[in-house]
Order: sequence, then C-alpha cells, then structure tokens
Amino acid sequence: MRILLPVILLILALVIVSVSPSNAQLKPPIKCLQNQLNELGFDAGDADGLWVAKTEKAAQNYQDKNPSIKIQAVSAESAINWCRRIGLTNPKLQKFWPSKEVPLKLKLSNNLSKSQIKTLQKESQRTLKYLNSKLGFDLAGSITIVSSNEQQELEKLVRTEWPYPTTEVNIKTIINSYCYWNYPISGFAFDGLVVLCVGEELSSGRSFSKKELRELRQTLVHEMAHEAHFQLTGYYGNEHSAIMYRNRGPKWLFEGLAYAIDYQYGFPNVSIKRKVEYFKERNRMNSTQLRDSAEWGGTHPNAFSDGASFAGHLLYRRAGLHSFRKYIESVGSGDNSHVAFKQTFGLSLGDFYAEFDKLSEP
Ligand SMILES: [Zn+2]
Repeated sequence: MRILLPVILLILALVIVSVSPSNAQLKPPIKCLQNQLNELGFDAGDADGLWVAKTEKAAQNYQDKNPSIKIQAVSAESAINWCRRIGLTNPKLQKFWPSKEVPLKLKLSNNLSKSQIKTLQKESQRTLKYLNSKLGFDLAGSITIVSSNEQQELEKLVRTEWPYPTTEVNIKTIINSYCYWNYPISGFAFDGLVVLCVGEELSSGRSFSKKELRELRQTLVHEMAHEAHFQLTGYYGNEHSAIMYRNRGPKWLFEGLAYAIDYQYGFPNVSIKRKVEYFKERNRMNSTQLRDSAEWGGTHPNAFSDGASFAGHLLYRRAGLHSFRKYIESVGSGDNSHVAFKQTFGLSLGDFYAEFDKLSEP
C-alpha cells in the first residue's frame, strides 16, 4: 500500500514557517537557481550552492518581476521548486537542473539485514533509472530514503531527516497512521523524504520474496512519482499550500497517476486493458465520491486507492504513462489545472467524471 499524505501535510502547513539552510543536500538546487538567476540578469553571486543574502535578494527581485509564477516564499528549501519552475518556463535554463549531480541519499536502519539493505539500495537506484529513462523524470539530488522494520527506529530516522524546521508535528502519529506493519512494505512521501516501512514478516532479516520485491518496487516508484510531483509543482509545506493544492488539480489525480505508474512498474507485462478491468471491478466510488474524497479511510478502507487507481488507469489508457509528467509540468509552469487536464488527456474534467461514472456501471 502506498500512501500520500494530503490531510496531514495541510496541517503541517500551519506550523512550517521558515527553514535554516544547513542541509548539504540543498546545495545543488541552490546552485541551479543561482546559475539561472545569473543568466537571467539577476545577480545571485557565485553559483556555489550557498544561500547568501545576495542570492536571496536576487531571487526576491526575480519573484517581484514575475509574480505570475509565484510558487511559495523563496528560500533555500524552495530552491528546487524555483529551479524546476524557471526551467519549465525557460527551457534553455533546464541545463542547470541538478538531477545528475547528487545521488539519492539512503538512511537505512541497522535493524535491516545486509541482504535487505543491499536490495533497498539496488532497487532505489533502479527505480530512479526507470523514472528517468521511461518517463523522462530527471529526478534526484534532494531525495532521502529512510527505512526500518521497527517503529521507534524509524521514528528516529524520520526525525533526523525531517525536511521541515519544526518537530512540533507528531512524527510518531504519522508513522502510526501510515506504516502498515503487517504489509511486507508500505510507505509515504514528504518533500524530499521517502519513508519505507518494512513489515514484521521481514523482521527476521530474510531476503525479500519475489512478490515482496515487486511490492517494494511499486512502493518506491509510487513515492518517487510523488517526489517528482513535489519538485515540479511546489512543496506542500508552505503558506500557499492550500491554494497550491487547488491549483494543481484534484487529489485523486496525483494518486491515480502514481498508481498507474506503480502498477506498470510492478506488472509490465499485464496489458492496460486488463488493468482497467481489474480496477473497474475493485472500484466502489462514483465520480462525486472520488472528487470529494480527501484521503484514505471512510467506510471502505481501500475505497480511495481503488477509485483513484481506476481513474488513473483510465487516464493512462487515454493518454499514455507520459501524461503524468506532461500534466504536472503543465501545472508546474503555471497553467490552470483545468486547462492542463484538457490539454493532457483530451477531455474536460467534467467530461471525464461523466465517463468515469458510465464506465463504473457493472
Ligand atoms: Zn500516493
């Protein structure tokens, strides 16, 4: 099971105010932004990846001159969003995108066995490669993957790598809600942080079975697809998050496309036709429920994931898997989400809901 945290992230937005730029991982995005600003004629100082007053001032000036692409306050932490966004609106400046400079950072608990750690390392790189070569997501540089098979240990790791300046939020509660310890693997993503919960069944340290390996791959690609979404459309942890969320489009869409990608990665030989049939069978929602569903839970625990997966696969069938990237890049470059939806998938959101209801009928 793979989980995105819209509700909790909105709560977080209340407590996240500013961030201190101490993390070395912030360097490549800052360097990208400095290069871009310098090239655009805003003097950001040396492109050294350090967030200094000159860089901040240049970014501020750029923001003032380009209010239409305001993502969030310019800061060291949002540098990756700005660097992506400036690249999307000025394709020539994409050459500064930092993706290839720094590999993924993995923080894996000692509780995991050597063979499990090796698998996690290998699969993380493989997933990154897949997203890059198959879907065109040039992602990396600021993603930390933490994993453990033990709740307290995972809590510790998450706390150390927490991407926000506050620990007021109860990390324990988050892990409690979103780790499914009786699943072989479950996970969730924040801005630049992917958390993988390795289930109790694997606590003996044995290697992943074939089926568990597939679950791991699906979880990894799913959460990293969300990271692509964070990078290209802006992070949640900022004061504009509620507005940003609305502007990006419906919640089910990001979830549904992440599922379409993860099932393609996990089951590359199953046709899209069969996948659509499978999720049609599972789906219990109509379009109104889908549109209004905030997240997991409700009367039917898997209702949201099934509904979103069905919708995501319908869109995949319509426009191909690359549509995910196309849509978020479009929204990320400032397009209205309704316009982006129609341009990407070839029908309006309203027409899609009508189609969803028609196709949901047994
Ligand atoms: Zn998700």
